[in-house]
Amino acid sequence: MPEVSLQLPDLEEATAAEVVAWAVETFGQQVALACSFQKEESVLLEYLYRADPNGRAFALDTDLLFPETYDLLATVEARYSTTIERWRGPTLQEQAAEHGDELWKREPSLCCAIRKIGPLKQGLSGLDAWITGIRREQSPARATAKKVEWDEQFGLVKINPLADWDDKDVWREVHKLSLPYHPLHDQGFASIGCVPCTRPGEGREGRWAGTDKVECGLHQEAA
Ligand code: SF4
Repeated sequence: MPEVSLQLPDLEEATAAEVVAWAVETFGQQVALACSFQKEESVLLEYLYRADPNGRAFALDTDLLFPETYDLLATVEARYSTTIERWRGPTLQEQAAEHGDELWKREPSLCCAIRKIGPLKQGLSGLDAWITGIRREQSPARATAKKVEWDEQFGLVKINPLADWDDKDVWREVHKLSLPYHPLHDQGFASIGCVPCTRPGEGREGRWAGTDKVECGLHQEAA
């Protein structure tokens, strides 16, 4: 970790591609894109590898992702001749042995802590910064996200190049650049996570539908 006193620039007027390029230039191999294979990451992956063909991206593999997500991961790796780093928690069998079957039905926050937050901490360890696809319009918890900010929760710089983009901005870029994107977006899934916790829906309404849960804990401190 560099000096935490690092003066973070105000890049609010910079384009998303410029923010990604700044991130790569500033942090080199110490910055990585967190990739959940939403349409936002389709754009950011393109910007990342344009800025640095050896740029780093990682995925949190909960072992509960849609088959289409794993297919897209393979497509991305082939398109950019890269390997997406994968971080995993305990196996589903290990989780079941300790907490019982289908923990996501009974304690989704604990399940996310085990399958997402734990692996995220592994993925972020050793990094100075991470790049995310969060946008301010996605949820109240994300409404105050800056393009470059200090992440108090995980203790590194957090870079949100698409913070000021709306849904149409993302789709415009995906189509303009003919980028590969998650096929479930065309089946009514605006946001895509784990199979048991994802339903079709606008915005993030299809995530943990029918519960009070709105975030898995990766970004809830962004506000
Ligand atoms: S989204 Fe659901 S299945 Fe995935 S880690 Fe969270 S609670 Fe578990």
